[in-house]
Amino acid sequence: MHVRAPSQVLADLRERTPYVAVFAPRRAHPFAIALERLLKEYGFAAYLLEMGASPVDVWRAARATQPETGAVFVEYAPGDYQVLALLLGVLRWRARGAAVVICRRGERFRSPRQRIAYALTRLLARAELRVDADDPMRTIAAWRPSLMPPRAPLARGWVVRSDPARVDGIVGILRCPSCGGPLRPSGEGLACERCARTHPIVDGIPVLLREGARAQVEEHEHGYEAGDAYELGKEENRAWLEIGLAKRDLVGRLLRGHTARASLDVGCGDWGFHHDVVRGLGSELAVAGDISLKLVRHARMAAAAPGRVHHLVFSAEALPFRDGVFDLAYCSEVLEHVGDPERALAEIARVGRGGRVILTAPNEEVTGKLEEGHVQTFGYDSFLALVRRHVDVRDVRGVYLYEEEPRRAYEARWRGLPVGPLRLRLALLRGEREPRRSLSILVDGILR
Ligand SMILES: [Zn+2]
Repeated sequence: MHVRAPSQVLADLRERTPYVAVFAPRRAHPFAIALERLLKEYGFAAYLLEMGASPVDVWRAARATQPETGAVFVEYAPGDYQVLALLLGVLRWRARGAAVVICRRGERFRSPRQRIAYALTRLLARAELRVDADDPMRTIAAWRPSLMPPRAPLARGWVVRSDPARVDGIVGILRCPSCGGPLRPSGEGLACERCARTHPIVDGIPVLLREGARAQVEEHEHGYEAGDAYELGKEENRAWLEIGLAKRDLVGRLLRGHTARASLDVGCGDWGFHHDVVRGLGSELAVAGDISLKLVRHARMAAAAPGRVHHLVFSAEALPFRDGVFDLAYCSEVLEHVGDPERALAEIARVGRGGRVILTAPNEEVTGKLEEGHVQTFGYDSFLALVRRHVDVRDVRGVYLYEEEPRRAYEARWRGLPVGPLRLRLALLRGEREPRRSLSILVDGILR
């Protein structure tokens, strides 16, 4: 382990992995933001997450790291995280097979104990990069561009594309959400050749909604605050983080060995399937969308591989795609927000007929209404009855075993106890086998 030149580090990682994470302390972190951007420019699929200071925070961050992540960059200075916590995190990342690069700002340690713990951490890390403590941005500026290795295709066939995916790459599969007619690029938007409506492209994101749906979008936009769906390190978010990760891992397991050609995430929210489960990304085409432009903007910003995923604004009830273009569809915690879920499912079946589908919905007959915005109330039987009209169901799982009002209950019972996350994991595991009593019902099947 040594201090290395960034060009060496990137050349080395390029041989190992296309997929990297950047962890930053939970306050202003311009260096980490710039690093994430640089990594994307050099063709990596990169994502940035904040991490709290305590051992529990770092442990949780290591757990939350995508299984596919082959390298982890950690911005660190004494005081950012407890150094023993960092050591713990590095051990866990290493155990998961990821290389760790510590990006260290050169402040001094306050005690010999800190110095020893950091020396151990360095030994376990793959490399250390030095960051200018006074002006971290100067470090990034000094890295580019002549010192860097040439841009080259990555190992494992990952397509190097760092710019946002371009609209003209998918015009051929789109159709007018109002009349179903073909679309063509026209000025600032996409014009329908049949009904002559022009759908706007805002900030590179096509907004493909039926006439009159716009007000709903704006209302939706103001009602939602976009942000990190997992909010690592936030104590009050602990139970939901575990539940989200359990869902991600479950879907990842279900999709193991399944290679999709073209994937669609219906209702991606501010984060999205393509980020949650990289395994679900179509090898030739990946599309994600939501009815809120604000959430879609955020999803694109947070996307690990912005060059691989096309982001659109659309309504689940009028999908703007031609028939049968997808062979994997994902729609998670969306149908309860939709006025006509029957129609939304019929639309998903239309665009993904014969393909794999994964659907989830909250089991609100058990939990009671979880959110204001829910216009449907599903239970196990009603959800399955709806789904079975459009899907050959192969597997039904629960994402969580409902015991009490989950968030408050778990907080009150397990706050600060190291056994907490383990017990939650056990509950999640049991819930998987008891979908009827679970917080959320997951269906895996084939679209008819
Ligand atoms: Zn039209």
